[in-house]
Amino acid sequence: MPIKVLPREVISKIAAGEVVERPASVVKELVENSLDAGATQVDVEVWGGGISLIRVVDNGSGIQASEVELAFHRYATSKINTITDLQSILTLGFRGEALPSIAAVADVEILTRSASDAAGTYLYLRNGTPTKKEKRSRPLGTTVTVHHLFRDFPARLKFLKSTTTESGHIANLLSQYALSFPRVRFSLVIDGRLALHTQGSGNLRDVLAEVYGLELAQQMLEIDEVDQVPGVSGLISPPLMTRSTRGYFSFFVNRRWVRSALLSRAIEDAYKGLLMEGRHPIVVLNISIPPQDIDVNVHPTKIEVKFRNSQSVRTAVQRSAERVLAKRPPPKVKTAAPLPLASPLSLWITKGKEMTSLPVLRVVGQLANSYIMAEGPDGLYLIDQHAAHERILFEKMLAQRSTKRIEIQGLLEPVNIELSPKEEETLKRKGELLCEFGFSLEPFGTRSFLLRAVPAIMKGTNLAEAVRVLLDSLASDDEPSKREEKIAQSLACHSAVKAGQSLTTEEMRELIRQLEQTARAQTCPHGRPTMVYLSSSQLEREFGRNP
Ligand code: ADP
Ligand code: MG
Repeated sequence: MPIKVLPREVISKIAAGEVVERPASVVKELVENSLDAGATQVDVEVWGGGISLIRVVDNGSGIQASEVELAFHRYATSKINTITDLQSILTLGFRGEALPSIAAVADVEILTRSASDAAGTYLYLRNGTPTKKEKRSRPLGTTVTVHHLFRDFPARLKFLKSTTTESGHIANLLSQYALSFPRVRFSLVIDGRLALHTQGSGNLRDVLAEVYGLELAQQMLEIDEVDQVPGVSGLISPPLMTRSTRGYFSFFVNRRWVRSALLSRAIEDAYKGLLMEGRHPIVVLNISIPPQDIDVNVHPTKIEVKFRNSQSVRTAVQRSAERVLAKRPPPKVKTAAPLPLASPLSLWITKGKEMTSLPVLRVVGQLANSYIMAEGPDGLYLIDQHAAHERILFEKMLAQRSTKRIEIQGLLEPVNIELSPKEEETLKRKGELLCEFGFSLEPFGTRSFLLRAVPAIMKGTNLAEAVRVLLDSLASDDEPSKREEKIAQSLACHSAVKAGQSLTTEEMRELIRQLEQTARAQTCPHGRPTMVYLSSSQLEREFGRNP
């Protein structure tokens, strides 16, 4: 094919794909525009995961009648004038790409009024071109409605996840902006249901209570070091209040929500030694930094920033966090002692011997409160008690499930669980599945639920946490059979005996007896080995008895 310059329409569609990746990107751009316009109230409504409809209503400054069409031109912006302005950006937008990009991939309606106009301006755009314009009344502010996102982009539609997942992304996004702008009243309605509502009180703790629940909000520790450069402010969790993922890290740079490996590391370093392995804190931090010290123009979505002096930012964040954490007495963290093995571990893992079933084993003892030492007819077995128990419970759960005979345990004291908007969204769509596994959750106020029953295998104390972890693993879209496996895995992991827990000989015997009956005794549900084995002949070789 000869080289040619692409037609404008094609260019704009290609470029639009960079800004508008999924429905949540549209919501992000529209909400950022509302915030840039000084809105104190932003109401968002989405239907069908944002594919059918997204509407953002604000009470900001509005757009002048004469400029409404211009706002939909590529690189049309009121936020910067010259290249030097790029170094002092304090607004969320500045590239002048959002409105034209959205209009290139959806039908868009806008109704807006600025203080200089007596009436509002209504404009309807199809395929990026205005097809209807009229005067309509409206109080100060802007309403943008986006219909049929990606209707003409089947390839993009195909890549989107289910409406649950997309709604979840939107709920998370709104939660982040609410945390970043506590003075702004936000509301989010998903498919007609109020998913999030903040008061705009200006108090971060109030917003946090709306997003993650009151109990958590009350316990968070405050960082308020705004006089230093960079300034660091926000809330971080005490070491005993943790989550199993980094999904509860919220970082803002000059109130812009960003993802940052650098900031994550700073926080992890601050908590070093205070948390159990695999646990992560809950963090909401704003970094205020002179705009010339950062570059936000890294990517069209502006979710990443570059710091001019990243080391000083990392240190400032780490120190600020360490200072508030140091004010609290350090909790005792239980860590399992490492297994004192004289010989290299590799020695213990015999390759090539694929045992289909376990021989009868005699328990010899427990090592490091984590491993069961047992003797078989042909050698020595070291069994990881947690992994082995996980395997047993996993198969039990799946067996009960396939015979539809789940054993349930009612709770004498129902457990109150407060969910984030994203978690609630997952519960709403996948709750039935949890119910089939024996959970009974009943609504109890805004995003608050009472856990009344759980599967009988669950012995762990932190049931709320277990439910949260489950919802987290269910948030993505999987094949139905994978979903069930995930639930069984998660339940097994939560309920299995932990490493570091001492067991009686009787308990060890019982565990091995049950392990013998599983279909795949050699590996835990995650695929890690449940045991290492040292054969008698290997032992003899090691001791030079049988050269
Ligand atoms: P950018 O935000 O990068 O300037 P956009 O395409 O998002 O580019 O918006 C173009 C312009 O339209 C903005 O610069 C602003 O002047 C105006 N605008 C968009 N949305 C709003 C809104 N909700 N309220 C007031 N003005 C708006
Ligand atoms: Mg914008």
